[in-house]
Amino acid sequence: DARHGRIVKALSGYYYVRPSGAPSDAVVIQCRARGIFKKRGESPLVGDMVDFEETENGEGAVNAIHPRSSELIRPPVANVNLAVLVFSVTEPALNLQLLDKFLVHIEHAGIEAVLCLSKQDLAENGEDTADARRAMSDVRRIYEPIGYDVLVTSSKQGEGTSELKERLQGHLAVFAGQSGVGKSSLLNALVPGLTLETNEISNRLGRGKHTTRHVELIDIGGGFVADTPGFSQLDFTELGIEELGTCFKEMRELSSSCKFRGCTHIHEPECAVLEALGKGEIAPSRHANYVLFMAEMKEKKRRY
Ligand code: GDP
Ligand code: ZN
Repeated sequence: DARHGRIVKALSGYYYVRPSGAPSDAVVIQCRARGIFKKRGESPLVGDMVDFEETENGEGAVNAIHPRSSELIRPPVANVNLAVLVFSVTEPALNLQLLDKFLVHIEHAGIEAVLCLSKQDLAENGEDTADARRAMSDVRRIYEPIGYDVLVTSSKQGEGTSELKERLQGHLAVFAGQSGVGKSSLLNALVPGLTLETNEISNRLGRGKHTTRHVELIDIGGGFVADTPGFSQLDFTELGIEELGTCFKEMRELSSSCKFRGCTHIHEPECAVLEALGKGEIAPSRHANYVLFMAEMKEKKRRY
């Protein structure tokens, strides 16, 4: 008798399946994958929705994997539908180039993104409060008009964490962002009882954190979060140069109004993107980063 569930953890050849419709504290069923997957060169991933059946001694077998809506390579998680892009208001300082690069890859994967500005307390009691406040207003001014939600949080003071939890409802989310921006601290603040290592702890123990990690989904009640703060970069499938423009949401929406098909929005006449840029409707930093990424991709292509 077939049942549905989601793989929440994979370890040593076992897949741990949370039956659909079960409460968040329900037991997970330890399953083996049927040999058929190996023959087809497929393998189940954390995040997969599967059909499984219970076998002897409380174990189970995964019989089928449902089609995936998305697939991350690193961290290896299927069906992620929300990326929480974490940047701290300061320490480390906001880097818009890095932020746009993360967004490009998230857009390319077809995953919805939320921007989370962490360490909000440092905008009130930090070494450079002016810089931190500027970072907050820049991100809101640039990204909210494009349609990205911007949440401001402080794990230290609890600010914004319930709003973030609310935003995660109904989603399978991954957290992304540079090391040190506070991803582990945020996850710990979101999930009662969770104790992921944060930087000061791993420094004290004299080792880098998350050296050997396996991905696990944390059930936050009405949503899942992948426990992957050790992955500071997200790896997606290769991005083609001609796809770059589609990964900038505000440019994608305008490109059908450009005179030329395949317009690169850099030098063409009657380009709707350049016109919007001229009118101040597109943020200069966004277009500049687009031009920069395009040049980087061309350079990479030339060298290989
Ligand atoms: P990760 O590498 O992104 O997982 O970041 P961590 O969660 O390990 O945090 C990195 C450092 O930032 C640690 O020293 C944390 O104590 C500090 N940190 C994290 N969240 C906050 C916050 O909300 N406010 C302040 N002031 N510091 C924070
Ligand atoms: Zn154009």
